[in-house]
Amino acid sequence: MKTLIKNFFLLLGIFLLITVVFSFFAEQAVKPSVVGIETLVNRINQEEVSELIVSGDKVMIILKDGSEEIARKEPSESLTTLLSNFQVDPAKTTDVKIQIKEEDGWNYFLINILPFLLPFLLITGFIIFMMRGIQGSNSKAMSFGQSTAKDFKPDAKNKTTFKDVAGAKEAKEELAEVVEFLRFPKKFHDLGAKIPRGVLLLGSPGTGKTLLARSVAGEAGVPFFHMSGSEFVEMFVGVGASRVRSLFEKAKKNAPCIVFIDEIDAVGRRRGAGVGGSHDEREQTLNQILVEMDGFEPTQNIIVIAATNRPDVLDPALLRPGRFDRRVMIDLPDLKDREDILKVHARKKPLAADVNLKTIAERTAGFSGADLANVLNEAAILAARENRKEILNQDLFEAIEKVMIGPERKSRIITDKEKKITAYHEAGHALVAHFLPLADPVHKISIISRGAAGGYTLKAPKEDKHMHTKAEFISEIAVLLAGHVTEKEIFQEVTTGATSDLRRATALARLLITDYGMSEKLGPRTYGEKEEMIFLGREIHEQRDYSEKVAEKIDEEINNFINQAITKATEIIRSKKEELEKIVATLLEKETIEKDEFEKIVGEKPTK
Ligand code: ADP
Ligand code: MG
Ligand code: ZN
Repeated sequence: MKTLIKNFFLLLGIFLLITVVFSFFAEQAVKPSVVGIETLVNRINQEEVSELIVSGDKVMIILKDGSEEIARKEPSESLTTLLSNFQVDPAKTTDVKIQIKEEDGWNYFLINILPFLLPFLLITGFIIFMMRGIQGSNSKAMSFGQSTAKDFKPDAKNKTTFKDVAGAKEAKEELAEVVEFLRFPKKFHDLGAKIPRGVLLLGSPGTGKTLLARSVAGEAGVPFFHMSGSEFVEMFVGVGASRVRSLFEKAKKNAPCIVFIDEIDAVGRRRGAGVGGSHDEREQTLNQILVEMDGFEPTQNIIVIAATNRPDVLDPALLRPGRFDRRVMIDLPDLKDREDILKVHARKKPLAADVNLKTIAERTAGFSGADLANVLNEAAILAARENRKEILNQDLFEAIEKVMIGPERKSRIITDKEKKITAYHEAGHALVAHFLPLADPVHKISIISRGAAGGYTLKAPKEDKHMHTKAEFISEIAVLLAGHVTEKEIFQEVTTGATSDLRRATALARLLITDYGMSEKLGPRTYGEKEEMIFLGREIHEQRDYSEKVAEKIDEEINNFINQAITKATEIIRSKKEELEKIVATLLEKETIEKDEFEKIVGEKPTK
């Protein structure tokens, strides 16, 4: 589109230039007055003429007083015949210098031909211009099937290596083997070992899948072809498959190399589950990927690395031996890994002496590598905005909250009444979280609105946990409902501020029953088939595999869990009124309370 506009302006510019030049010459040509042949004859007879310059049909008359005039004759008739025809006295003409000049090409062209030519030129130009536009999109259509893979040739300076990936120890170990295959293929061939063709990286978004794939290429020093699953799927059927073909063609020319297919779930979803158009295209694309992978010569050292965060929806055909038979799980980083990731990203950032990345890691449970990189970046931006040379602890804390909940919205105007309600609401969350031994300890309470939240209470687990008990979940639901409960206790009314709390509490209660089998009444089984279906572009997630009666029971049990949690929360709020009031007073005064101050008010967290 840009070039189209550029072409148009170019054409317009040329047109303007021609007009200017044309009018300039035209003006010059018009300057001397045009006279008839009789006037010329008269002038000669009266001996006023000093010179005649003939060019084409034009006779330039230069008079003795220096002025100029132009007369026109028939082009075929010579000046002398013309003069004698008009019976000019030949004696009078002897004084007159007569010059015959070549016709001035440019002038002639501009004046006589251009006026006819110009419209033609413009029309032709316009047609060419249009044709080019059409051809442009045509040639794009022709290259649809070409792979748009970005390839990264090994670049000694900026290559990503395992050093850039912190944590992910198991994943790196698995992939180190792939690096070996790429670097010393002979070693494996000699022993008759078959080199794996595909490695599937599984992990939540931001856990470093792309980074790891790139670092494998960097470690092995081979080219890296990167393409995202969604790029294969275009509007037209068949494009995906031909892109796959061209991607692998490129790879074969550059072997040994790595082909990286990001978001493979976009094409590699379980086949046969979809209803609707886009489905066929995905199937063809997936088939083509499988065909290409099966077709590698054993000596061709191409390793396909694919990444997804939805292993549950992948087509089983992808996971068969000889295809993506290596699977590498990448978990969210644990405490130690988070610290290491922070260290990697703090390399080029000047941190103040008192910054302890371990405390930052403690506060960022559940953050992915990408989130952590983002925290450091946001902190650096904050420090730069205040013209500091170092990143302070407070910048990092602020950045964590920004990444976790959203930017502070200090300008949001809230009434005193709203402020008071928010203070009670957050104090309620904090109090219940503190006095329930199984809930995570409170780090900070704030009534400054941030992102979509009116206020917030930050909690962080003491250590990373991978398993949770039913009692922990009930405590968690109680903490979620505590804001709502407190509002009801104090104001005998509830506000819309608790909507998302209620939604999360309900969702969690349902999960306990349908997925974790934690309900006594409904027993240790799961309810509902979590199958992916695509219908008219919409995903339908759940399919019921239970009866209406059971659905009723599930609803009842959800209410049961919620009520238990409400009772628990209410008990705490009622028995700790004094602490509640103190927290609220402090919040209204300072807007935020940090962990230390909070613990001064409520005492140490009970462990039992
Ligand atoms: P994914 O592909 O899994 O969604 P990326 O590989 O794109 O995640 O990671 C995004 C960014 O997060 C990386 O560019 C890197 O800066 C950071 N990151 C993620 N994991 C790590 C890690 N283990 N070590 C260092 N940086 C990481
Ligand atoms: Mg990625
Ligand atoms: Zn709340």
